[in-house]
Amino acid sequence: MNLRYTNQFCSLASMHEKDQAIAPWFESLLGCKVIPAKINTDLLGTFTGEIERELSPSACAKEKCYRGMIEENAQLGIASEGSFGPYPFIPFAYADHEILFFRDKVLGFELMTSRVFLETNFSAKSVSNRDELLAFGKKALFPSHGLILRPNNKANNGLLYKGIQNLESLDIAYANCLKESPDQKVWVETDMRAHMNPTRMKAIGELAKDMALRLSTPCPACDIPGWGIVSKIKGLSCIACGAPTELPLKEVYSCCKCEYKIEVNPETRNADPQYCQFCNP
Ligand SMILES: [Zn+2]
Ligand SMILES: [Zn+2]
Repeated sequence: MNLRYTNQFCSLASMHEKDQAIAPWFESLLGCKVIPAKINTDLLGTFTGEIERELSPSACAKEKCYRGMIEENAQLGIASEGSFGPYPFIPFAYADHEILFFRDKVLGFELMTSRVFLETNFSAKSVSNRDELLAFGKKALFPSHGLILRPNNKANNGLLYKGIQNLESLDIAYANCLKESPDQKVWVETDMRAHMNPTRMKAIGELAKDMALRLSTPCPACDIPGWGIVSKIKGLSCIACGAPTELPLKEVYSCCKCEYKIEVNPETRNADPQYCQFCNP
């Protein structure tokens, strides 16, 4: 364990119990306590659109982090932001893009990590009857994962049920949304807030582990925490024909604060022909 953050505290700007996912890694790898900051993160936008998100996800994570630190008068802060949508490389697949932002005010550096998770229940559709609703729920891992319902015409009247986690609430919400829906359809979507979505909570936990590992690794040049891989350079050569592939030839490690940077060759020296555009087009 790197002792730099031992017995310090880090504010976490979240209303959605993300400390469950983040605190165990900060505790075990850094000895650092994570304290939820009492700020209303919904003011920066909600998934369900009652308040529009105006900032990019990374700018939003940064803004939340700063606000949480001010609220808790903290020297260290962390915040997370997720966005969801179609995954461009696989037809009909959705992905969860998670970002974590960390700031150390005393040492004067910031670190952002992000990762795309293909494991997500993210989906939405309009349903015409209860069977369709229940089929959607089953696929979306309801009731362990929450649902959101509203009349099919979103602009209608602002009627919105969030965080539905049992059949009784689902039936009530469905009946009420149906009444307000001129086309007799109800809009249902997955609730992506972390405390309503164990799959997302797990993804945030994995990213928190990446972040804590980075923060436990000091820069070889200036000793600032956060040393780690920032990019990969493609071009590992095919073992059969020698042509460059998309696999990384070098990994670039860099510091969060100083200019120091090194390029490292990954352990594998050659790419399998399955990754070669000539041997396996
Ligand atoms: Zn080849
Ligand atoms: Zn450095």
